[in-house]
Amino acid sequence: MNLVLLGPPGAGKGTQAAKIIEKYGIPHISTGDIFRSNIKEGTPLGKKAKEYMDKGELVPDSLVIEIATDRLDRDDCREGFLLDGFPRTVTQAKALDDHLAVKDKKIDHVLDIKVEKEELISRLTGRRVCRNCGATYHAVNIPPKEEGICDICGGELYQRADDNRETVENRIEVYKSQTAPLINYYEKQGNIKHFDGSIGLENLFAEITGLLG
Ligand code: AMP
Repeated sequence: MNLVLLGPPGAGKGTQAAKIIEKYGIPHISTGDIFRSNIKEGTPLGKKAKEYMDKGELVPDSLVIEIATDRLDRDDCREGFLLDGFPRTVTQAKALDDHLAVKDKKIDHVLDIKVEKEELISRLTGRRVCRNCGATYHAVNIPPKEEGICDICGGELYQRADDNRETVENRIEVYKSQTAPLINYYEKQGNIKHFDGSIGLENLFAEITGLLG
């Protein structure tokens, strides 16, 4: 089962990804998470990526394609994978298809999650993430029991550097201009399904599992 999650920042891709990988036992590959862990470790890749991420811009295709395809070559992806946040440009999508084709593989389903812009802004600017386990909260809608502390592991909650309003608005614009064209790309392949991301996370998950079986 080779899956791609598509949708603007804040659509709930990460939340659905966590549920999908638990149910289907495939690895979750988030290029954003790979960059963030490189930033945390202070690697050269992290330093380069940070310049773009802090502004809400896309990291250059050549860098992203290399880290994503390297990750897909690992053993745990043999039975399938869930890509979250990759591909984000048509160039990346073509490179992904080419990489898979060499191994006689393809993307089976693209899950496209749609949410209105105002809702995305509210979700992202209020988002808080656990530094330790990665669980996500919302300052108003899904607050932790104790402010600043993760309910699950007691870790410290923080706001992502790119979740401020200005950067969020830019990320949404970048999505529209550079990533939304992928919808058309996958429509032509006939493997994309569209979902309404405002129906609540359990309802959305039920619709996704209805498709995946
Ligand atoms: P995300 O966690 O998916 O929201 O990604 C956070 C940031 O990482 C994005 O705003 C980009 O700067 C960068 N990034 C993640 N994935 C990609 C990608 N496939 N192509 C280019 N930039 C990416």
